[in-house]
Amino acid sequence: MGAVSDMGVTTGLAILDALPDGFLDCDARGLYSLLDGPTLIEMPGERGPPLFVSILLHGNEDSGLGAVQRVISDYQDRPLPRSLMLLVGNVEAARHGLRRLDEQQDFNRIWPGALNHGDTVEARIMAEVHARVVERGALAAIDLHNNTGRNPHYAVVCNLDPHTLGVAALFSPRVVCFRGIPGTQTASFAGLVPAITAECGLPGEAANAEAGARLVDAALNLDELPDCATEGAPLDLYHTLGVVRVREDVSFGFGTGGAELRFDPALDENNFRELKPGTVFGETGHRMPLRMIDEAGHDVAEHYFETGAGELRLRKQAVPAMLTVDPRIVRQDCLCYLMERL
Ligand SMILES: [Zn+2]
Repeated sequence: MGAVSDMGVTTGLAILDALPDGFLDCDARGLYSLLDGPTLIEMPGERGPPLFVSILLHGNEDSGLGAVQRVISDYQDRPLPRSLMLLVGNVEAARHGLRRLDEQQDFNRIWPGALNHGDTVEARIMAEVHARVVERGALAAIDLHNNTGRNPHYAVVCNLDPHTLGVAALFSPRVVCFRGIPGTQTASFAGLVPAITAECGLPGEAANAEAGARLVDAALNLDELPDCATEGAPLDLYHTLGVVRVREDVSFGFGTGGAELRFDPALDENNFRELKPGTVFGETGHRMPLRMIDEAGHDVAEHYFETGAGELRLRKQAVPAMLTVDPRIVRQDCLCYLMERL
């Protein structure tokens, strides 16, 4: 059952039938003292099928931990209203406050359906969790994340069926549909279990953990899956045009400095704003310092961005999400997504 060797290398999935002592008061950095690595905790509730919730697939994103701690603490002297399968993901990266360790794969890119994760221990763990969740006919799958830039709360889905949108609406009326990153937890369940990613804003803020807690508690208390076609307020639906990254061979920074690409340091104020063609993202002498990969895997950067007179500008009207001003996240993940309203 030991899931991490002395070298910090993940060796397998641990499965528990109760929370370890101390879990409800532990911060993300301290979880390594309670858990040996990726751990699935299967807790009984008053009814089934279970709700599946994953937290800390990215080790620096702690609102999911705060959310499940809040919810489970509320049920300490009574049973959970529904069984819960809780996956605690990258315990080692959480210990260091990082999305992932440099030698690790991204825990949210290696779920079944990933293109080239190879046959790694981490990918086998996620496949094992995936099989158990599907086998138990989970009611829904919720993956709790944070953003590194300033964003309002929003859900990401890979499927526009009414049940999936109904679960998303429990979290936020703002819903982004994107099928372009195979190997995410949410993508791996599309068509099998209604699945959403809940993007809970910046980590480390109580209000964001509370928003995640309201979602998990609402899902645990569902009698049946909501159908957004008949319930609740209308959704604000977006479709993702592509993921924007800085070309690997281009140096970049935020603000002034000697890098080939110098982004506006307040770029993340633009998340979920409708941006006009010509909006300046930064300064550069490079012809095209970005790549933008659409759902089909094509680079469409030239279609959405242009350069000239030392500036990098948007060419088309678009709405960005996940814009970050953290250079490490830009390299490990992306600069942003560009979206259009549906
Ligand atoms: Zn994340």
